[in-house]
Formats: sequence, structure tokens, C-alpha cells
Amino acid sequence: MHARTATCCCGQLRAVCEGEPERVRLCNCTECQRRTGSVYGVNAYFLRTHVRIEGGSKSFRRSSAAGRWVETHFCPECGSTVCWQLEQMLDVIGVAAGAFADPNFPAPKAANWTENKYHWVPLPGGISAHSKQT
Ligand SMILES: [Zn+2]
Ligand SMILES: [Zn+2]
Repeated sequence: MHARTATCCCGQLRAVCEGEPERVRLCNCTECQRRTGSVYGVNAYFLRTHVRIEGGSKSFRRSSAAGRWVETHFCPECGSTVCWQLEQMLDVIGVAAGAFADPNFPAPKAANWTENKYHWVPLPGGISAHSKQT
């Protein structure tokens, strides 16, 4: 099966993802803004059974806007977050779309938390926009 590999900046932490993501979301929530250091995150979700994590990571567990835990896994050397787990969707692993560094990666079909969107950020055409979570 076709696989894509998401990596941290230094390359030691990798998530090898088989097949296509279950869903891809553009998220404007403040947590994604802080996680990425950018003004939104693009989050790809793969079935857990289709993801193989390689390399060492540290994790950080926080509460989501909906009150459930989200645990991000980041490289202890370079600090990049590569993937995360969500209490509300334990069968999938979230992977930072930018970590694939693949301009042909599938586009997000929905944008979440547009109420937190930086006002000068345009959304891709054809995307469904949601003021909170989809
Ligand atoms: Zn690294
Ligand atoms: Zn978010």
C-alpha cells in the first residue's frame, strides 16, 4: 500500500502512514495555533492501524476545547509535533499535514473553529467552514 512519512525537523521522529487519511481538517483553534506556531493547523487523521511511529518522542497532554484530552507527541531534539491522539477518537492518530512536506497531500474538506480564525487568513475554495468543531 502507498505510504507517506511525516517527520520532525531533525528527522528522528517519523510517522509512516499507509493509505489515504480518513479525514483532513483545517483547524483555526487557539491550541492548533500554539502547537504549530502558525495561524492554523492542518490535521490529517489516519486509522491507528495504518500508522507506524518510529523514533523517540515526548508527549504533552492537554484538555481540548470540548473538555477531552489531546496528547501531542513531539521530538525531544527539535521540538516538532508530528502526531497526536484524541480521547474522542482513539481509533485514529492525528498527523500534522505539514510534517509530510508534500505539496500533493490531500486538501482539507472542512475548516473548524473559524471563530478563532485570523481575520486575514483566506479559506481554500469549496471548503465547508464551521465556527466551532465539525
Ligand atoms: Zn526532531
Ligand atoms: Zn485545532
